[in-house]
Amino acid sequence: MKLADKTTTAVSLVKASLKRIEETQDKNIFTFVDKERALKRAAEIDQKIQNGEDAGCLAGVPFALKANFLSTHRPADASAKILTEFLSPIDSTTAEKLEKAGAICMGCVNLDAFAHGSSTENSYFGPTKNAYDDERVAGGSSGGSAVAVALDCVQFATGSDTGGSIRQPASFNGVFGIKPTYGAISRYGVVAMASSLDVIGFFTKSAEDLDLLMSVTAGQDPKDQTTLPDFYGTDDVALKKKSIGYVKEFMESPALDSEIKTALESKLAELKKQGYKIVELSMPTLEYALAAYYIIQPAEVASNLSRYDGVRYGFRTENLKSEDKTPLDLLFENTRSEGFMRENKRRIMIGNFVLSSGFYDAYFLKAAKARTLIIQEFEKAFKEVDAILSPVSPNPAFRLGEKVSDPVAMYLEDVMSVPVNLAGVPAVAFPVGKSKTGLPLGLQLIGPRRSDKNLIKLSGELA
Ligand code: GLN
Repeated sequence: MKLADKTTTAVSLVKASLKRIEETQDKNIFTFVDKERALKRAAEIDQKIQNGEDAGCLAGVPFALKANFLSTHRPADASAKILTEFLSPIDSTTAEKLEKAGAICMGCVNLDAFAHGSSTENSYFGPTKNAYDDERVAGGSSGGSAVAVALDCVQFATGSDTGGSIRQPASFNGVFGIKPTYGAISRYGVVAMASSLDVIGFFTKSAEDLDLLMSVTAGQDPKDQTTLPDFYGTDDVALKKKSIGYVKEFMESPALDSEIKTALESKLAELKKQGYKIVELSMPTLEYALAAYYIIQPAEVASNLSRYDGVRYGFRTENLKSEDKTPLDLLFENTRSEGFMRENKRRIMIGNFVLSSGFYDAYFLKAAKARTLIIQEFEKAFKEVDAILSPVSPNPAFRLGEKVSDPVAMYLEDVMSVPVNLAGVPAVAFPVGKSKTGLPLGLQLIGPRRSDKNLIKLSGELA
């Protein structure tokens, strides 16, 4: 991912990107293409290079932003109707850092509205199609990001991962995706989903590119108090034990696709040949991760989405006539009823329910306790192994429409990805070939907090 070889120019890279975006329009990847600005920035970068100035380590590299990254010069609607007319007064720290390093934003890519989903079917703009099969989902919620990279519209894309939204679409489309340690990268200027789980990460075609992007974007930001000091620096955790674990309960799961299982077993065999000790880990509390996630996450979603009231952001209802309600009550009620997708509403209702007095102890508090046990189980595992090799999701990309009317079936997609977010540890999804029917297969490597750099390196060796 460099322009350093000087065999090309930023303008020609941007033009090639625009051409690919045009050619792949039927996949419904981009929700906004920033053509003029991209061409203008490319010309500026070429000029800088010609003048012998430092144009940055990402000079001229086209990239896409998941549309929940806010920006002052293009719409950032999180693929949600309620944000369609919203123009942000701020830019995300991550996009600013990438552009400062010379990368060129080509526009915004599709997601499940507010990142609620595992298929990009919950988008106000309709679903993005899988890179390899028009009848299958792209995965989600960062489906647009994954397909944009898989089909070479851009060299990398940003994503956010609250319960698997980077890793699952990465694995469904045969690309790399990182969910970094919680707090590694600033979330300032990214629409919040569930703040104790949300992280920012990337999609690329190689481990080296992930490493480069982490080095550009990780680190403390005074605008996001959860960011960690000295990330990607002297406190990096090394993987020195030469020992890799796998989760017994995942391998024995009847839901696990046989080709994914075989791919995982063959990677373990490869590691063994290289001298790694392979350890079977029993992690029984992971059984509760999905239930805990679908309590904690909606609870945080309900409070984060309470700010969308038709007064301060984006879409506002025009339906303000009623016999028995005040115009203000109607403004709130109808803006939210018309502006949120069904899945957003479902989460707001679940979230308010689990937080309500009388149910708080039974649901939210219990889920918080389960989360602590899951954190401890990972800590225990990482005393014994450097990293855990795991499926990302139990199956390859499923069919469009297959799970939309069954929310529990959709949630079950996340059973192997959400434990990582609950524990705040990093994981890298990487491609491991194709199924017999030609669908990409992916695995993830999960490591202890701050092992991101070494995890990326190992995943590159394994892919
Ligand atoms: N699929 C998960 C959910 O719908 C994760 C989404 C995400 O990571 N943004 O909650």
